Amino acid sequence: MTKAARGSLLGIEQLRAEEIAGLLKLARRMNPQKTRPLLRGKRVLLLFYEPSTRTRSSFEIAATSLGAITTLVQSSGSSIEKGESLLDTGYTLHGLGADVIVIRHPNAGAPLLMAQHLDIPVINAGDGMHEHPSQALLDAYTIVRHKKALKGLHVAIIGDIYHSRVARSAIHLLSKFGAMITLCGPPEFLPEVAATLAPGLHITRTVEDAIRGVDVIMLLRVQKERLAGMKISLQDYIARYQVTMARLKLAKKDALLMHPGPIIRGLELTGEVADCPQSVIVEEVRNGVPVRMAILARALGRAR
Ligand code: ASP
Repeated sequence: MTKAARGSLLGIEQLRAEEIAGLLKLARRMNPQKTRPLLRGKRVLLLFYEPSTRTRSSFEIAATSLGAITTLVQSSGSSIEKGESLLDTGYTLHGLGADVIVIRHPNAGAPLLMAQHLDIPVINAGDGMHEHPSQALLDAYTIVRHKKALKGLHVAIIGDIYHSRVARSAIHLLSKFGAMITLCGPPEFLPEVAATLAPGLHITRTVEDAIRGVDVIMLLRVQKERLAGMKISLQDYIARYQVTMARLKLAKKDALLMHPGPIIRGLELTGEVADCPQSVIVEEVRNGVPVRMAILARALGRAR
């Protein structure tokens, strides 16, 4: 297999725990409020084949906070719409002088393919059902700010596990650091293979069992169309899996409530839960900036 370009971040699975810890440590030294010219003159290409609010804007803010120049290319309104292939788009962006490409794509493996053919670092901003490494890193960063360490923590991941790249990256990261993980969701959203993904992984049937005594509750987005496709009624999902204040109380008193966004109030969680003091949903978004500053600095060899 061709090697991926140096500095690329394609997934959490292939990172060693020390590399992850190094990135988190670097993120702690990044201050989005104070512009640092660490990446002055560098060109960060944001190539988005799927919609994004948080990931795209926080990579953009991260890059400009480090003095880089950003250019956004979206599938609509670009040559991609005219049928240009992924690699040809990559060669074009490279030819235009991109120093790093941040890519979100509906197909798993698209960032890897690009990283194997270009000699500039490629950062995966979410690829199909595969991985979303920067989300896992910002979630780990958020947890550690509250809980000090990941080792020994009990984390419940609830929702559509099967389709979730956020879940996949989080599972890889948390298990590398010795956290215990409980998965919960409708059986249609819980692949059998989930149990073999990582040691220390459990599956529970009821959301009450999943939440009881945990340190962190990580919710995932649940798409109404997917529920309909699996013939799961909205009412049934809400009755069985929605996180309500009563269910949240089963967790440890100081448990964190997380969600990568976009949240759907009234489906995955109630509005009260989204806004309660234990909810760190907004903090996760905020933490995305220093974490992505660290990712970009590492990619361009400026990780000091
Ligand atoms: N925003 C996250 C992602 O792009 C979570 C989600 O959309 O389900 O993967």
